Amino acid sequence: MNATPRPRFAGAPITDDDATIAAALNDVSVPTLLVSLVHLTGDASILDGALRPAGVYLNEVQGFMSPEDQAAARAFALDRIREYRDAGSVLPSPPDAATVHKMMEFLVAGPVDEEYVPLLLEELELDGVDDRDEHWGARVPEDAKSDAHVVVIGAGMSGVLAGIRLGQAGIAYTIVEKNPAVGGTWFENRYPGCRVDVGNHFYCYSFAPNDDWSGVLRPSARAAALLREHGAIARRDRPHPL
Ligand SMILES: Cc1cc2nc3c(=O)[nH]c(=O)nc-3n(C[C@H](O)[C@H](O)[C@H](O)COP(=O)(O)OP(=O)(O)OC[C@H]3O[C@@H](n4cnc5c(N)ncnc54)[C@H](O)[C@@H]3O)c2cc1C
Repeated sequence: MNATPRPRFAGAPITDDDATIAAALNDVSVPTLLVSLVHLTGDASILDGALRPAGVYLNEVQGFMSPEDQAAARAFALDRIREYRDAGSVLPSPPDAATVHKMMEFLVAGPVDEEYVPLLLEELELDGVDDRDEHWGARVPEDAKSDAHVVVIGAGMSGVLAGIRLGQAGIAYTIVEKNPAVGGTWFENRYPGCRVDVGNHFYCYSFAPNDDWSGVLRPSARAAALLREHGAIARRDRPHPL
């Protein structure tokens, strides 16, 4: 298990002035902001407060909060972020599993089965560890590794991911693709306006965070380009190429 690249702003000190922070807060999902404050301050009592989402629906990023509650949450956040900045931008320890579970229930305004907590912890990588980055190294004898060769059918999101993970484990593989290029769905769907239908931050490999987006919903061509980049990385790192 290795540490993975974090989003480029994670842990970076906040140096912006109050007006800049306040302006940025106008452009956020307030429920997400509130749970981020738990991480920023270490204060889980935020999850018990009156400022909270009232429900959840795909792409309703404000959780049905009233404009007044959103404004109050932004003002609350500005104070907390200012305190964090002025105290030297020192992050507390990441929230523990029980707190993350509470954050999940807060965000969806209802109960969340405990079985989803490990999944989210893995996705969040709050400890900076990529649990699926399996390097077999010396644990598996070289001849056993070199005897194996996996064929992956398809170079879409899943096939490229399989290649990356197999490469990390030191297992030889070949990705077979019927189309002339990597991309799968994003190679085939290129009609005008075609794009992902959930926010970009949900639609990336967890070990490859990226904030270089032209909008919230990434266009098909950009998704295909990113997959080509990942495909090239998979090809470059492929152990024992044929
Ligand atoms: C407009 C649109 C928006 C979407 N938005 C989202 C979104 O916001 N969030 C989300 O999670 N998902 C979204 N999706 C779903 C998207 O398809 C998946 O997220 C993802 O791209 C699927 O990847 P995949 O690798 O599993 O399959 P695919 O991308 O379909 O890749 C399969 C690959 O296998 C190849 N293949 C198949 N059979 C063979 C064969 N016999 N031999 C060789 N090659 C073969 C195909 O050519 C293809 O390249 C969206 C889809 C569309 C069309």
